[in-house]
Amino acid sequence: MLSWTLETTSPERTRELGKALGRLLGPSSVVLLHGELGAGKTCFTQGLARGLEVAEDEPVTSPSYTLMNPYAGRLPLYHFDLYRLVSVEDLVDLGFDDYFHGNGVTVVEWADRFPQLVLEGLRVRLEHTADDSRRITLEADGEPYGQLLDSLRRDWTIVG
Ligand code: ADP
Ligand code: MG
Repeated sequence: MLSWTLETTSPERTRELGKALGRLLGPSSVVLLHGELGAGKTCFTQGLARGLEVAEDEPVTSPSYTLMNPYAGRLPLYHFDLYRLVSVEDLVDLGFDDYFHGNGVTVVEWADRFPQLVLEGLRVRLEHTADDSRRITLEADGEPYGQLLDSLRRDWTIVG
């Protein structure tokens, strides 16, 4: 399956979905987050970090000003936020490529801000549907992510 859409009705549910995904992620995974401000990209990443076993007492916040926050979990987590990125060169200066091709998990908020930045991964689109509701569409770019999506949906149905 290459695409799956569901709705969450609270921030906690969005974190749970992120956590379920985080549990399944292997080395060199890329998760691309799309959605307006307040859609829940950081909220989703908070859960994902827990699923990667980042310590509970480590706050996961938006790396808007720093562009990237690293966390130590069962795999390294690199949490990017491109909202304040001025030019793609700044990312190159940060060693962006090394993170992507390393062993860790890379999560990118506002992954679509720079069309010239071609990224492949599991895309998560979050849309505000009501105060506490978000429509979440997950799309796999190609097969390894397609299998990941199958597993996520299965786990979500069992635990759900
Ligand atoms: P973004 O990183 O996309 O700008 P945040 O995750 O920082 O968004 O903020 C999302 C806000 O929306 C939080 O204040 C959160 O509590 C709220 N919220 C309400 N309902 C949901 C939901 N179902 N999923 C995610 N966030 C939600
Ligand atoms: Mg954010």
